[in-house]
Amino acid sequence: MAQAAFAAASVAARGVAALLGGRVGSVVDGQVVAGQGSAITLDDPATGLPLLGYADAGAAVARAAAEGAARAQRGWIALSAAERGRRLWALGAAIRAEAEALATLECANTGKPLRDCRGEVARVAEMAEYWAGWCDKVEGRVVSVPSGHFVTVRREPMGVVLAITPWNAPLFTCGWNVLPALAAGNGVVLKPSEYTPLTSCAFGLLAVKAGLPAGLVQVVAGAGATSGEALLAAPEVAMVTFVGGAVSGARIAGACAARMIPCVMELGGKSANIVFADADLPAAVQGAQQAIFAGSGQSCVAGSRLLVQRSVHHRFVEMLAEASSRIRLGDPMDAATEAGPVCNARQFDHVRSLVAAGAAEGADVFIAPRGALPEAGFWVPPTILAGVTNEARVAQEEIFGPVVAAIPFEDEAEAIAIANATPFGLAGAAWTRDVGRAHRVAAAVRAGTFWINGYRTIHVSVPFGGFGASGHGRSSGQEALAAYTQAKAVWVETGVEPALGFGHRPAGVGG
Ligand code: NAD
Repeated sequence: MAQAAFAAASVAARGVAALLGGRVGSVVDGQVVAGQGSAITLDDPATGLPLLGYADAGAAVARAAAEGAARAQRGWIALSAAERGRRLWALGAAIRAEAEALATLECANTGKPLRDCRGEVARVAEMAEYWAGWCDKVEGRVVSVPSGHFVTVRREPMGVVLAITPWNAPLFTCGWNVLPALAAGNGVVLKPSEYTPLTSCAFGLLAVKAGLPAGLVQVVAGAGATSGEALLAAPEVAMVTFVGGAVSGARIAGACAARMIPCVMELGGKSANIVFADADLPAAVQGAQQAIFAGSGQSCVAGSRLLVQRSVHHRFVEMLAEASSRIRLGDPMDAATEAGPVCNARQFDHVRSLVAAGAAEGADVFIAPRGALPEAGFWVPPTILAGVTNEARVAQEEIFGPVVAAIPFEDEAEAIAIANATPFGLAGAAWTRDVGRAHRVAAAVRAGTFWINGYRTIHVSVPFGGFGASGHGRSSGQEALAAYTQAKAVWVETGVEPALGFGHRPAGVGG
């Protein structure tokens, strides 16, 4: 793997040269700007060796980014809606033109297999095209009031949106949160995870290349406690959209509450993937693998609780263990690799400590063979913890790694009760041939997304988000346009006798 380390470092250097002009820093007003804070070192997840380093942006860069975004937003909203749409479409084309460079850079930084990175880049280009089409469809409405008035409701942009994103899918979450905000007429300051800023910075530069005003998409490369906090305090920031963990989410939602600004929160989950005895079991095995082992389980929607009807539980776990031993685990840069390492040392330690906790609580542990993987690097092979109860730590806490807790259940009612017995509510699935049961379970499980005989599909056109501790608000589908705009009511006097004066209103009109 020493060879792989060399490959990752040189791929990262080539990507930084091609997409960032050779320098890692924040993107402010269309330029790469060096940070003024502490040094941050990025590791190659496949080997644990240093990949490259950069300096945390710091408060002054963060402030400049927020001010520049406010200026650029005024220029953006002054363009015709159709012109804004054309420019977002051009951004989609620019992403497609650099797809391979973006995918390899993402792969080197995150350790996510190249084939998954290629897929995510293509999805981001699609997002730009989808939102381009909405720019000239942000429409208000006319309300009938019982008085001599004509009332229109305008949808106006918030101004500057701060988008804070995590390390598990950096470019994907950048597109997911930045693009609808732009379509709604906002400027954006993006604060990617300090572990994975590279493709987000490239996105900021591609936006300028595609014709978006310089400054409209600012990217602040730095840590949450420093650069992130400085952005939360910037007076220009009028709304926050956050994707990440519950602890940071609570801190950031608190900061928004103190400033009385709205936020969209997309947090983690502990989603129940429910397999009934009447399901197509081989298809459900494939779905269970996709649910938890894709992206090495570092997915907010991961099906990390596998609920299996007791009569087939043992057989199903055996089938899953056998299938998982065939997952191609290896060099993320190899296009044939299906699973790579987890992204960083902190996550590696977290995942391993929870596997140990599961074993200590009495779970049967099945670990897929590591093959010829190196000792160094952040490798966690696909792991099944069987015979777990829903009260166990591994069934309640988000592991965010390739580790599934298999829990037996007796009947439909018990499956629903177990599925709902966590504070989370992000996603879930049911595998069954009984169409009535499929719909009953979909309605009864508390989750923002539910799949029947499938798992993990999401699309920019469909609302996505959490119930309960998994967050609130939606940043995809038509619902996002409401989130990223605010309603303004405009009253026009049309009566022969205008309803002016203190207290006078025709019957039925208050205020
Ligand atoms: P995290 O919460 O540690 O960090 C997320 C982002 O928040 C990073 O950019 C970080 O720098 C920033 N941040 C942290 N503290 C901050 C502060 N005080 N002020 C401003 N910014 C701050 O999460 P993570 O470890 O990067 O990501 C993993 C988590 O994200 C998991 O829990 C996962 O489930 C969740 N996630 C959710 C979704 C979703 O759509 N629901 C998607 C991906 C990941």
